[in-house]
Amino acid sequence: MGERELILDGMSVEEVMRILGASGAGAKDAGPADSSDWRAVLRATGNEPSRATAVSKPSAPDSPPPRPSAPPLAPDDLDDVDAPEDAVAAPPAYVMRPTPQAMPRVRPTPPPAGDPPPGIVVGTASRELFGGPLSGVSTLDQLAEIIATCTKCPLYRTATKPVPGQGSPTAELVCVGEAPGENEDKQGLAFVGQAGQLLTKILAAINLRREDVFICNVLKHRPPGNRNPMPQEVEACSPYLVRQLEVIRPKVIVAFGTFAAQTLLETKLSIGKLRGSMHKYYGIPLIVTYHPAALLRNPAWKRPTWEDVQLARRILDRAAGA
Ligand code: URA
Repeated sequence: MGERELILDGMSVEEVMRILGASGAGAKDAGPADSSDWRAVLRATGNEPSRATAVSKPSAPDSPPPRPSAPPLAPDDLDDVDAPEDAVAAPPAYVMRPTPQAMPRVRPTPPPAGDPPPGIVVGTASRELFGGPLSGVSTLDQLAEIIATCTKCPLYRTATKPVPGQGSPTAELVCVGEAPGENEDKQGLAFVGQAGQLLTKILAAINLRREDVFICNVLKHRPPGNRNPMPQEVEACSPYLVRQLEVIRPKVIVAFGTFAAQTLLETKLSIGKLRGSMHKYYGIPLIVTYHPAALLRNPAWKRPTWEDVQLARRILDRAAGA
């Protein structure tokens, strides 16, 4: 059975008659049927009443056209900022009591509407994020100056420019990535290469411009050849990120990729396990999603990423209404 079929099980005769009457189902091909005789109407559709379970979907002018169920995102779906097609679809009006078998065909999966389950909690809302020597540093510019002269790990020797991060000092959303790549290292700006362009589109999908948010990384200097950050580099550098978050105090943090997520949440859990929960980082909601560079390699992750950032958007909207 295709999507143009309608389950009649459990419908009253009146409901069936109304639908068949509205559509004139079968009348064109099978000749006129007396619409007061439901058996005749069903016969006219080619269905014997005793075994009829489905008829053609009525084509009332206001009925939505049949939709494919959950189409996979095209590789460039985040190129346009609209919701994936099936994300906003309401169930067709003619589905009255869908059977379990019918539901997947007629009901596209909406993005999750409520809050996801709570996840990992790091720190408490009432404590300073970070105590240490940086606690007296109260602006992002001051932090950037300190980062520019940092020698706490060897990365400053091979890096071209420090990449402290950039954006609004009053950002309500902070994006945290892994470490600067080649382009970032040359320009001294976070997420300006190909992954950065995709990040711009991800933000646009939730109506945010880059300048509305703060974009940074766990590491502020590029690891040579884009190798993975080493634990001692993370340990040396993460106080800067922590202090940045403390100065900005965003309403939501989005950790892009395994590395940012594991560092902030102090866990070794995989991104698959960390996604889909609302974590808390010193009282700030933290959402985990795929890294834009990973999306470039695996476009199938664009849809879950889209869902994750929609959740971040809802958290922002709720905070604005509070
Ligand atoms: N990848 C990151 O994690 N950060 C950047 O700034 C660029 C690429």
